[in-house]
Amino acid sequence: MRLDKFVCKSTSLSRTNARDVISQGQLSVNKQVITDPAFQVHENNTVMYQQGRLTARPSRYFMLHKPLDTLSSNVDGRYPSVLRLIDVPQRDDLHIVGRLDADTSGLLLLTDDGRWSFDIIRPLRHCNKTYHVSLRSPITEDAILKLTHGVQLQNESQLTRPATVEVLTPKQVLFTITEGKYHQVKRMFAAVGNRVNGLHRVAIGSLQLDVDVAQWRELTHSEIHALA
Ligand code: URA
Repeated sequence: MRLDKFVCKSTSLSRTNARDVISQGQLSVNKQVITDPAFQVHENNTVMYQQGRLTARPSRYFMLHKPLDTLSSNVDGRYPSVLRLIDVPQRDDLHIVGRLDADTSGLLLLTDDGRWSFDIIRPLRHCNKTYHVSLRSPITEDAILKLTHGVQLQNESQLTRPATVEVLTPKQVLFTITEGKYHQVKRMFAAVGNRVNGLHRVAIGSLQLDVDVAQWRELTHSEIHALA
């Protein structure tokens, strides 16, 4: 991990303040003064600041029930950022694992552990994402066949990977994909001549959304490891 990030994770200093104290030569790693904020520190290094040894806080892992009309982003834009809903110290250090559109609700993961989030979203992982989809028109057998085989999306070189469709009612399906392309669910239904009227993520891997809208909770150790 970068030294400035390590300092943020082990003190109450902001990233800017951490960089300042590092550049001023106030930190040592294994008894050597380090002034480069990008210097890589490892778990077993001894990092000293103001006569004390720094130890990084453990990483944090949350699930959040994203409401409609919020942004999967760390900053506000047309709508408020979902981070506003999570009231924890240094919440700006958190990042979102696999975004949802502003008009999509449901399960979002947030963490400050970049390795964990990368492992969930890396393309070859093929992690399942399950959505409750409300459709404009009743789903047809032909559409199910195409979606479960893979469809061609505009500007993509390959077919999508096969999806799983569980029909709940003619216009409501549970839809599972193993990729995370831009607007993927909406584009897949558009590719079979339908339209998504409502989208809600209910699960990522084995993790099911189980908090009310706009609520959040920490993940348990077994949930963190099951997703890793
Ligand atoms: N697919 C979409 O089209 N939108 C989302 O928010 C998530 C998946």
